[in-house]
Amino acid sequence: MSAARLRVQQVGDGFAPYAWAASVEDVAARHGIRPEAVLKFDQNTPPLPGVPQVPLARSMSRLEQYPDGTYRELREAAAAYVGLSADNVVVGAGADDLILLVAQTFLGPGVRAAVDTPTYALYGIATRLHGGTVVDAGDEAELRWVCNPNNPVGDWVGPDEIVELARREPQTTVVVDEAYVEYGARSCAPWVDELENLVVVRTMSKAFGFAALRVGYALAHPETAALLTERRAPAPIAGPAAAIAAAALRDPRLGDVEATIAERERMRASLVSAGYEVAPTATNFLFVPTEEHLAERLEAEGIVVRSFPRGIRVSIRRPSENDVLLRALGADPGPPVGRDATIIRTTTETAIRLTLSLEGQGRARVETGIGFLDHLLTLWAFHAGFDLELLAGGDLGVDEHHTVEDVHAVLGASLAQALGSREAVARYGSAVVPMDEARATAAVDLVRRPHAEISLAFGSDRVGALAVSLLRHALERFTIEAGCTVHVDSVGADDHHVAEAAYKSLGQALRQAVAPGAAGIRSTKGAA
Ligand code: PMP
Repeated sequence: MSAARLRVQQVGDGFAPYAWAASVEDVAARHGIRPEAVLKFDQNTPPLPGVPQVPLARSMSRLEQYPDGTYRELREAAAAYVGLSADNVVVGAGADDLILLVAQTFLGPGVRAAVDTPTYALYGIATRLHGGTVVDAGDEAELRWVCNPNNPVGDWVGPDEIVELARREPQTTVVVDEAYVEYGARSCAPWVDELENLVVVRTMSKAFGFAALRVGYALAHPETAALLTERRAPAPIAGPAAAIAAAALRDPRLGDVEATIAERERMRASLVSAGYEVAPTATNFLFVPTEEHLAERLEAEGIVVRSFPRGIRVSIRRPSENDVLLRALGADPGPPVGRDATIIRTTTETAIRLTLSLEGQGRARVETGIGFLDHLLTLWAFHAGFDLELLAGGDLGVDEHHTVEDVHAVLGASLAQALGSREAVARYGSAVVPMDEARATAAVDLVRRPHAEISLAFGSDRVGALAVSLLRHALERFTIEAGCTVHVDSVGADDHHVAEAAYKSLGQALRQAVAPGAAGIRSTKGAA
């Protein structure tokens, strides 16, 4: 049916739908590069996912039931996190949902909403969707959208300035979007009980790393909160998402925020030295004033940024990934930061993008197309205490040989790169890991003398889609590329257990060997 024949609600002048930056697949197809080689700096999300603090099995139970429509647990957790009470909290499917709810509640044909330029596009979209009129920030208006810190430039104001505005214009709804507040700005939340016209919007998508869950919350005077809640959808957030968000708000683990802030400052300094006029931000992104078409040039190199008329906005990722961007912008990244490596390697047989951080928390996102290999490498990273993001696309239509071998080679190379000079590491590590009837031993020496002794006693060829017979050779490749000595010996009756114990023990041994220590690689023969 043609939409032209339907009676649809009028939108305000200038309406244009929300547009995302190009997807990984689009960029890859457009420039003839492999999807694994594409790095996205456009989403303003953290480089690694948040870790659910509710067992997934528990959060996924009761899938036949609706979530609690009052979202009491989530509202209480959000209230505790910001220092307010549950009746100040309105929940929504992301900050976006709350922005649309605010527009639906307060705007309509002819109602004016003030919007800064530039700012987050959804304020204008939400206003026009409800027939409202967008006016400039200095003009009279019934509602003011304030993004603090502001996207895309990252500038921010103190809460007093916004509170003063809300006091001065009690008839005007002042909506403060604090999506990025955890990265350095101060919140207006403490004033919502005093000011009925103040609505603060927050998200779990940024500092908490849960953009995929779609959870946001708004903070307002209890009467304003009740008004908004009456008008929201009956159950906007999926039950598992609400449970994971509530657990995270009760016990916030925002360790990545500090690392992101440090990276932001390092990147800014490097860009400023290269001649770019990059202003300070209180966010997880930087705005780089540049000539037009730069975004297109970067995209052709597999680097996706957000493009604006006066420059590009780049999200902060891991140090080694940020170095790729800095080099593409002609800036000097300086010496490697932390013990972190990103390797992008493409051959005719495989395409791999891998980021390894030795100062990690054992988090892994591994997608090789071979389920059991993903499982082994996830365990390896967990037991080593490394963060690992590994995306691989290989010629699995031939067989898994190239993927298994290349993934291990890149993993070894990334370990070597992340270790850097190897001067202040414990150097040795060893571990014995039983797994039911299986038992594996691993011993590691980080000295730069590649030598592998790998013995894996498999009874058959395969576990799932993985020919386990490939693992011995693959671990040898890992060892050679890592430039160290590795012994792994695993025996047992169940091949799944034999492989799993081997990767766990290797992870445990590496955890000890890479730990900071005095031994380093200086041997009794002098520096190795
Ligand atoms: N507000 C601002 C200022 C944003 O930059 C974004 C992310 N693009 C959002 C809200 C959206 O947040 P959410 O994922 O919670 O919908």
